[in-house]
Amino acid sequence: MSTIRVTIWNEFRHEQHADHPASTLYPNGIHGAIADGLIPEGFAVGTATLDEPEHGLSSEVLANTDVLIWWGHMAHHEVSDVIVDRVQRRVHEGMGLIVLHSGHFSKIFRRLMGTTCDLKWREADDIERVWVVEPGHAIAAGLPEYFELPEEMYGERFDIPAPENLIFVSWFTGGEVFRSGACYTRGLGKVFYFRPGHESYPTYFDANVRRVIANAVRWAAPSHGPRPVFGNARPLEPRA
Ligand code: ZN
Repeated sequence: MSTIRVTIWNEFRHEQHADHPASTLYPNGIHGAIADGLIPEGFAVGTATLDEPEHGLSSEVLANTDVLIWWGHMAHHEVSDVIVDRVQRRVHEGMGLIVLHSGHFSKIFRRLMGTTCDLKWREADDIERVWVVEPGHAIAAGLPEYFELPEEMYGERFDIPAPENLIFVSWFTGGEVFRSGACYTRGLGKVFYFRPGHESYPTYFDANVRRVIANAVRWAAPSHGPRPVFGNARPLEPRA
């Protein structure tokens, strides 16, 4: 099997503010920490950030990406619609997309879901207990029954379409619950939303979180099935 090519896209703004905890937690950016978790898995890993030309997502970069990972928070509105169109087109062609944490409000995720993707939140040093509810799924491989993280709270209702597969449900110390690992298909592309990853916590260094992201990359990689044929069609069988 050929090497899976991953591009990690990060807004990369919080980490560049010296007074923000993310600047100490993620000196190489959130994308750098995610890359450090994926490189030992044998993937070909590249990164792209908002302030690069075309946000680092040129047609060439996307054409050479099997799975795109997306982290954004404070600057969703700065992402150009031209790039959103381009990413959506590649998902429909078969590129995998993994949307992390506050990426729930990104233009690309809302576009692909068709709903508001709104939710409840609280930044108050909660503990998140992530339960694996679909242990036979590829994204759950190698995980314990549950794992815990100091995290921001996200609570239901999460305004997403019913997932095709729900892999994780999180419980928080405030009593809230959240569908924290949701799988979709859009065109030929697979889409996975994974909740943990607030910028003020070292979540992307956690071994279980890294396992989930690596598993999700393998799951979301293009399956290279037949290209769909649309439009007026001749019968395959001869007719009298
Ligand atoms: Zn957050």
